[in-house]
Amino acid sequence: MAEDKPFIVRVAVLSPLRQLFDYLIPNNVIDEWPDFQPEVGCRVMVPFGRREVVGLIVEHANTSEWDLDKLKPVSRLLDSGPLLPTELLELFIWAANYYQHPIGDALFGMLPVLLRKGDPLPTVGTRYWQLTNKGKGLGSDSLKRAPSQKELIERLLIDDSLSDSTLSRDFSRAILSSLEDKQLIESFQKTGADISVANILKQDALALHESQRLALEKIDQHSFNCYLLDGVTGSGKTEIYLQAIEQTLRYDRQALVLIPEISLTPQTEKRFRDRFNVPIVTLHSGLTDKQRLTAWTSAKRGSAHIVLGTRSAVFTPLARPGLIIVDEEHDQSYKQQEGFRYSARDLAVSRASKEGVSVVLGSATPSIESLNNCASDRYKHLLLTDRAGSAKQPNWSLVDLKNEKSEAGIAMSTLAEIRQTVENGHQVLVFLNRRGFAPAIICHHCGWSAECHNCDSRLTVHRARNRLICHHCDYQQRVPHLCPVCQGQELIAVGEGTERSEEYLEACFPQTKVLRVDRDSTRKKGSMQEIFDIGSSGEPCILIGTQMLAKGHHFPNVTLVAVLDADSGLFSPDFRSHERLGQLLTQVAGRSGRGDTPGRVIIQTHQPQHPLLEILIGRGYSFFAQQIMDERRITQLPPFRHMALIRAESDRANEAETFLRTARSIAERINRPSPLMGYLGPLPAMLERRAGRYRFVLQIDAHKRSLLQMLLDALIVEINQHKDARRVRWSIDVDPQEM
Ligand code: ADP
Ligand code: ZN
Ligand code: ZN
Repeated sequence: MAEDKPFIVRVAVLSPLRQLFDYLIPNNVIDEWPDFQPEVGCRVMVPFGRREVVGLIVEHANTSEWDLDKLKPVSRLLDSGPLLPTELLELFIWAANYYQHPIGDALFGMLPVLLRKGDPLPTVGTRYWQLTNKGKGLGSDSLKRAPSQKELIERLLIDDSLSDSTLSRDFSRAILSSLEDKQLIESFQKTGADISVANILKQDALALHESQRLALEKIDQHSFNCYLLDGVTGSGKTEIYLQAIEQTLRYDRQALVLIPEISLTPQTEKRFRDRFNVPIVTLHSGLTDKQRLTAWTSAKRGSAHIVLGTRSAVFTPLARPGLIIVDEEHDQSYKQQEGFRYSARDLAVSRASKEGVSVVLGSATPSIESLNNCASDRYKHLLLTDRAGSAKQPNWSLVDLKNEKSEAGIAMSTLAEIRQTVENGHQVLVFLNRRGFAPAIICHHCGWSAECHNCDSRLTVHRARNRLICHHCDYQQRVPHLCPVCQGQELIAVGEGTERSEEYLEACFPQTKVLRVDRDSTRKKGSMQEIFDIGSSGEPCILIGTQMLAKGHHFPNVTLVAVLDADSGLFSPDFRSHERLGQLLTQVAGRSGRGDTPGRVIIQTHQPQHPLLEILIGRGYSFFAQQIMDERRITQLPPFRHMALIRAESDRANEAETFLRTARSIAERINRPSPLMGYLGPLPAMLERRAGRYRFVLQIDAHKRSLLQMLLDALIVEINQHKDARRVRWSIDVDPQEM
């Protein structure tokens, strides 16, 4: 940079402002910290208001729209090289713009907390020991009185360097440190563990079936490509991921694997670790700040060859990116539902294209979005039609709840099937998407029911804890003995939750293990492990749970899956509810019959003639999804329209609605309603009052993404200047997944 031009950096800081901030790089900063650089992607300490904060350099410049003498200098440089590679920084900027989120908040929200606080990058890699020159020159007479120390020196004379873990197997810490104190040995870090290509596999790969082989062959890892690996549960998708990654590793590249929830599926992690001999790190919410930083750093430095993580792992830098995999790509958990509302699945695709690598989206029940991307040739469709091994697709049947007696949500014919299955020595999975004992408590005399003070919702009875709990705001109270209105003594818990069905099943099957799997029962550490152990052991048992149970477990001895209530998914006002119901039913059904015995699936419903259920059961998910896609095309819903929601909430009932009305009129001024751009609302949110706040939404949809983006850009600027905006909490949700 020329001497006479000012060196200005545009810096992102953690702030709700949607802008970068200009700072000067004074010469003395560079002189004082010669090891540090003001490169794009490096962190700096900058004065911000009355504080000093950590910022990240996003651009270099030599002009500013601000007065040069008003610009403050950066106080300090924090990194010797960019924290984020260019492609990843570009991804952040792109995502912040696309999801209409402040760039600083997006960036720092996704970085490990310790980096946000200004900590240095830790050294990662394996610690090795070697002799110092002094150690090498040691005469054979020395250390006579310390035979272990002598032995250690001799080992290092033979081997040059040995890893800390190898040495500490044979020598104590005290020996190592006393030799280090005498400056006879020294340690150093080796990154990029020495793994020879011949040595990548710990366990042989399976011989692929024909359709697996065809799919794997099509995955080209030499440039950006996006694949949808569409295969029924148990068709061997994971095996394809493993073998594709094997190729990635042979090219000396890293693989990034996104999965919906690690804690629920330790089996997936185990399969990766069992297969490969390379360092694998996992990134998930259960890590401490320090563990997260170490894992993140080893991905960035390239010493971790496989990075396995949940949603936010899509932002993990890789030294040698090679392949991205998004497992269960339809899963809702890939969309962040607050703050920076990004979709990790969609960003995985943008990231892959920026980095020039391939991305594989896998699912047994692909999202309508991804199927549509295949239809329009943006993604390549890889189909696996059969189950791997001998397993066959399960048989479905419907139980009409209108005509049958049921207890604790379980119809008598279903109960008989459960009994039969257990007696045959198999396992049963009972699925009910409502935790707690009962979703409501009602007074038998006056009809009073316990409602949440903060939300428009009833309190759920949790019998084991003797509490009424709001599932929306977590408000809790004791279960009352008397009706607070009429003092009546007969309070009835109505409806079924997993706790009630569990209790009933335990009473029916005293000899059989009944295990509940929901957020309440798995709070305890290790409880999930217990469930896997029993599930994998094949011991006859009944597992009853919420959708936690629907996630990718592989229990070969489950031969019956019963879905207690399919109806809620049929009648939700959310336009995605049918897609979700189809996915959920297909996923739970996929838990059945994964071993040698064919599986059965029972669906309980009051609507056995519902056309969607008929299509799903009679024709399968692909056909079902095709119908939904046609419907969306006709009704002009996503993915055939591009949608954004402006959500607003406030303590007072009318403020959120008023604000959104203002927002709508501003928007309509910018872009008049037309077939290209539509507005709906403000409408009350599905749960209008939640945690004491009134919530409304304004829906905007456009025939083109770019048009929607232009409107939102202009709209936000204007809204921000409007006085109503300060009275409410508002946010924008681009490509919303929940209405
Ligand atoms: P998905 O990920 O589609 O559910 P998996 O890869 O988990 O399927 O495969 C289901 C089961 O079939 C696993 O137990 C797996 O080990 C086995 N399997 C997969 N591919 C093969 C193969 N080519 N030969 C034998 N068994 C296989
Ligand atoms: Zn009463
Ligand atoms: Zn509540």
